Amino acid sequence: MNLKTKIREIQDFPTKGISFKDITTLLKEKEAFVCVVDNIVEEFKTKNITKVLGIESRGFIFGGALAKELGAGFVPVRKKGKLPAETIAESYELEYGVDTIEMHKDALSSDDVVLIHDDLLATGGTANAVFNIVKKAGVKEVYFSFVCDLEFIQTPEKSNIYKLNPHILVK
Ligand code: IMP
Repeated sequence: MNLKTKIREIQDFPTKGISFKDITTLLKEKEAFVCVVDNIVEEFKTKNITKVLGIESRGFIFGGALAKELGAGFVPVRKKGKLPAETIAESYELEYGVDTIEMHKDALSSDDVVLIHDDLLATGGTANAVFNIVKKAGVKEVYFSFVCDLEFIQTPEKSNIYKLNPHILVK
């Protein structure tokens, strides 16, 4: 299936000059939804993944389905202030300002094999920050999957993610 054609582009959202990749058009088609899940499961089914980390908020959508199919637990990585217990936090630069994401301190253990999942890789800032959180937690192994990569954006943070050999469905 050509998944690229299932993702809608919305011009000037959320601000002028941005061409937003809207995956809701992919999500609502059951064949496309299953295609994404099956593709990622096929890639990681032999890796003994123990935890899928979903990045707020669209990373939660496939993250839960992937955890179920891979026989793993699910861990949410959320924007600052949303998680109720003690957290590990990491801040990262945005074009204007700084953002912070958090994960519960007790979410992972040293024998976990982690799959970090998000819908989209743009500058790589978010994914890189999540990688830093996971490193702080200390786990056995880390893998990445993204539905979509905006290849025209290249940054040092994104180079770090590429070095970790992420699984990407749509480029
Ligand atoms: P990055 O940190 O610049 O790589 O941005 C990635 C994060 O922003 C992900 O959590 C995405 O969900 C979100 N994001 C950025 N651009 C888009 C887009 O065009 N469509 C959907 N999500 C986006």
